Parts: sequence; C-alpha cells; structure tokens
Amino acid sequence: FKPVVALVGRPNVGKSTLFNRLTKSRDALVADLPGLTRDRHYGNARLGRREFIVIDTGGFEPDADSGIYREMAKQTRQAVAEADVVVFVVDARAGVTAQDHDIAAYLRRLGKPTVLVANKAEGMREGAQWAEFYELGLGDVVPVSAAHGQGVRSMVEAALDRL
Ligand code: GDP
Ligand code: MG
Repeated sequence: FKPVVALVGRPNVGKSTLFNRLTKSRDALVADLPGLTRDRHYGNARLGRREFIVIDTGGFEPDADSGIYREMAKQTRQAVAEADVVVFVVDARAGVTAQDHDIAAYLRRLGKPTVLVANKAEGMREGAQWAEFYELGLGDVVPVSAAHGQGVRSMVEAALDRL
C-alpha cells in the first residue's frame, strides 16, 4: 500500500515548490503567476523507507464559477477524492484569508484526514502570529519552508501518522 497525499490550497502558497521538494523533480510548474498548475501532477516520494504518492494541484477555489477556475477546482476535488490524506497548504506570511476559510470548510465537511501546513515560514519565530491558523478548525499547524526544506520531514511524518 502506497499512500496518496494531495497538496491543496489557494494559488501561490507554494504547493508546487513543495511537490518538487518531495519528489525531487522539476515536474511541477513553479511561478509567480497564480494558478499555473492546471492539471493534477503525480509524483513518487519517500521519507526514509516509507514511499508515498504526492499529487500537486492548481489553486483551489471552491466557489469558482467559470472557465479555468472551475476546471482547477474540479481537478482539486478529484485529487482530494483520490487522496488518503490531504496536506492543506496556507501562507504563513499572508496569514489566513477568506479563501483559506472556504477550503478549510470544504475539507472539514469531507472529514478526510488533513494536515494543516503553513509554508514560507523560514525565519519566522513561534509566537502569536500562529494562533490565527487555529481558526481554520483543523488543529495544529506545521510550519514549513518548501523553498528551504525546513519542516518538510515533520510535515510528511504528520501526514503519514494520520493514515
Ligand atoms: P502554488 O501556486 O501553490 O503551486 O505555488 P508555487 O509553488 O508556484 O509558489 C508560488 C511562489 O511562492 C513562488 O514565487 C515561489 O518561489 C514562492 N515560494 C514557495 N515556497 C516558498 C517558501 O518556502 N518561502 C518563500 N519565501 N517563498 C516560497
Ligand atoms: Mg502550482
């Protein structure tokens, strides 16, 4: 059994950077342009001897009503359906947004095991700014830096622990 881990979150939080780090590939498109990853991307990853499959998705906008955004939301819902555990990525620097709340509500409704991850956390200290992430109702937040690699191992351990 190879578990499937889906990376979801609004555009530009660093899902594809995280995917590349986990799969050690350049498969996913990383750019400043939000929503570049329109399809689902699958990759193999491992932590020590534990192998898993990771899915990268475009930005998730649950209420998106047209065109490319609707297609991205559909792709993301399919990735979540395929996943054994969801890694919900938010931006530690931006804080919680309305879109994050929408996504969190969707994930809570599904009841699928979910790990909340705050990316871009390099150089940030533990402290008050983390409290707002508990508003999302998904428990503890794991700070990571996809760009620098910090916290990524803890994130994977937290995800695989939820299986
Ligand atoms: P996605 O839309 O969620 O897939 O986000 P991307 O992986 O394309 O990244 C969006 C932007 O955030 C890019 O400019 C990345 O270089 C930047 N980024 C990703 N991870 C980190 C990180 O850990 N720290 C910082 N400071 N920037 C990051
Ligand atoms: Mg992307």
